[in-house]
Amino acid sequence: MNKGLLIVVSAPSGCGKGTILSEILKEDGYYYSVSATTRNPREGEVDGVNYHFISKEEFQQRISENGMLEYAQYCGNYYGTPKKEVDDMRSKGRDVILEIEVQGAMKVKKLCPDAVFIFIAPPSVAELERRLRKRGTETDEVIAQRVAEAEGEISHACEYDYVIVNGALEDAIEDFKTVVRAEKLRADRSEY
Ligand code: 5GP
Repeated sequence: MNKGLLIVVSAPSGCGKGTILSEILKEDGYYYSVSATTRNPREGEVDGVNYHFISKEEFQQRISENGMLEYAQYCGNYYGTPKKEVDDMRSKGRDVILEIEVQGAMKVKKLCPDAVFIFIAPPSVAELERRLRKRGTETDEVIAQRVAEAEGEISHACEYDYVIVNGALEDAIEDFKTVVRAEKLRADRSEY
């Protein structure tokens, strides 16, 4: 059996990546890697579904046990990918999706050169800010911090294999599926 793909997706917060991925995950064969984080849950977020919400001490413990494939600090909190789940699911042939920020993605690029890197970009920074305000889950201060972070992240888009601009949602979903389909047909992944 072919090993599943490792699909690394980054997008500045407010790009609509959550909506794209929830559509993608309706298809069979994918496994969404649930990250660990030290940030507080937002309203409606469920432990073990959106994230594993853990303390800073527990996070550091997992790092010291080599339990994280990668981790990074983002806006003052730790975020990391549990290693074992990713390896287990890929060996079962599942295509694993990591939804992580740029620093973490660049670490995965060094560790897993066969991974597929997709950057989801907003049509513009102004549109991103508008979407973040509309979502209404963050204070003005956090929004300003996230917009500044987004500008930095967008400058790394060229380090990814694919850039999908999320203007119209249906187009972005179709683009994502096209990338995965093409990646599966690559000669270097083929058993032919
Ligand atoms: P949020 O607080 O909006 O849920 O996530 C903030 C940022 O952290 C997003 O860019 C998200 O993709 C990223 N992130 C989530 N989980 C991980 C992870 O396991 N590792 C890294 N490096 N970034 C993550």
